[in-house]
Amino acid sequence: MNRPLGDVELILITADYIRKSLATHMKFYLPVISLLVFISCVSSKPIAPSTTNPATRPKLIVGITVDQMRYDYIERYWNDFSEGGFKRLVNDGFFCRNLKYNYMPTYTGPGHASIFTGTTPCFHGIIENDWFERSSGLTIYCSSDSTVQGVGTSGKAGQMSPHYLTASTLGDMLKLFSNEKSKVFGIAMKDRGAILPAGRMADGAYWFVGADEGVWATSSWYMNELPSWVNEFNADGKASEYSNSQWTMLKEASEYGESHPDNNAYETPFRGTLRPVFPYDLRELKATNGNFDIIKATPFGNSMTLDFAKSLMKNEQLGSDEITDMLCMSFSATDYVGHQFGIHSIETQDCYLRLDLLLADYLNYLDQEIGKDNYLIFLSADHGGVPTPSYITKKNGVGGYWKSDALEIYVEDQLSKKYGTGDWIINESNQNIFLNRELMATMKVNLKEAQYEVANMILTFPEIQSSFTSNDLAQYRGGTTIKEMVQNGFSQAQSGDVIYVLKPGYIEYGMTGTTHGAPFVYDSHVPAIFYGSGVKKGESFAPYNITDIAPTISSICRLPLTDACSGSPIIEAIPIK
Ligand code: ZN
Ligand code: ZN
Ligand code: ZN
Repeated sequence: MNRPLGDVELILITADYIRKSLATHMKFYLPVISLLVFISCVSSKPIAPSTTNPATRPKLIVGITVDQMRYDYIERYWNDFSEGGFKRLVNDGFFCRNLKYNYMPTYTGPGHASIFTGTTPCFHGIIENDWFERSSGLTIYCSSDSTVQGVGTSGKAGQMSPHYLTASTLGDMLKLFSNEKSKVFGIAMKDRGAILPAGRMADGAYWFVGADEGVWATSSWYMNELPSWVNEFNADGKASEYSNSQWTMLKEASEYGESHPDNNAYETPFRGTLRPVFPYDLRELKATNGNFDIIKATPFGNSMTLDFAKSLMKNEQLGSDEITDMLCMSFSATDYVGHQFGIHSIETQDCYLRLDLLLADYLNYLDQEIGKDNYLIFLSADHGGVPTPSYITKKNGVGGYWKSDALEIYVEDQLSKKYGTGDWIINESNQNIFLNRELMATMKVNLKEAQYEVANMILTFPEIQSSFTSNDLAQYRGGTTIKEMVQNGFSQAQSGDVIYVLKPGYIEYGMTGTTHGAPFVYDSHVPAIFYGSGVKKGESFAPYNITDIAPTISSICRLPLTDACSGSPIIEAIPIK
């Protein structure tokens, strides 16, 4: 590899170039140089000091993502919350009641990336959790990176990095602004929940490796060995403790009136059991449910994340001086529990009541360790979750199940009839249809026309709401109509030839539990709360987008906006001097 040029070498080369140029073009350059010298003399007044009061910048920014948190959980569980958790954030912070995702698909990877980059998958590159890569024919995972090695774990679970992320995060901007003096970390049970929010320049991202390991790990993207405090954390037996504990209801069963009875047909029991009912004895369940992975699917996943956060803050001395640090923390357990039990389960409600207590505990911790006015928190979610369709349809509501296999067979059949037998679809995933472009070129089939044909023919499926061709979507517009939301999530290089949207309430999933991914409100409407240093107390019903969170934080902290920021600051939440 070529050695990069040193500064002195660059100056010498530049000087040499100017000298040669001057010799040949003296007549032309002399007046230009005189003018430049004149301008620089006139404008060489001392630079005015910044008018920003450094004291307004918090010692610590904490960006919290609650995985799969629907907006309405705040309302539904309000009366069950303690005074010190969600209620404290909402009552003493700024609460956006109508903030939504402005793109499809509403999945974990894209959601985390969008909150912290202030832009949509179209620009930050995290278009799905997993996507089909046309050039290799492989399915890519959003934070996988075969060029790095796990640190603290030897398996594939450690080969992770933010290299697919193509836009800067709040943490990256903080690093650049502070001349790298700020410390930035990301943590979560899920690797993507830790890695994508922290950004490419972070000091570290740590995630939990379950299975038979039960350790917090990272990758060589960030460091070559674990700090001793992480080794100590891993050695102190917390993972064993949690994976051998009992998950019981926090309150009396009668207090879960906002949820369905514990035993119902819309929940998925843990593997090896028949009924989805409390109490859950993890010691008995772990053998059939991925050993340490079982922690992720219970509220203890969130407890352990907070344990780790406190240990990280203490050992990395986050928020200990006047230079702003940042911790990006994602609570992943809510998503695992939501997927398994659905949005109306006691299990999900219990998980949120326990998260509320964790937040209350964390706020107290921050008050003590960082000081009441010295930290800034924002809390949002990477997506919501759809009400379990099997329940909804039983109650005559709107929704249902979708099987994309039938669509693939149908389209293949139709194209074969028209253009001759062939493998016309090379992949169908995430509601993206990838046509066989090589075969089309060989058979002289016009790609653009074929895209429109496929987009039209699939509308015969009653579950499909609308369909778009990549040719249609290439002209980026932004905005929040369904087509614009598909556009915001679309990448010309990475996405399929035809992208379709299912009707509201339809999912491709099992009959119990739930999922997300749609552009509709149940998946796109999430809470967004700003709390602490520099935040104006209040609430708003004005419509905002998920991409508005990052520029709001940048503005409150007088930091440069993230590179590809496509949102706007929520000025209602920012006090003006
Ligand atoms: Zn998620
Ligand atoms: Zn249950
Ligand atoms: Zn999920």
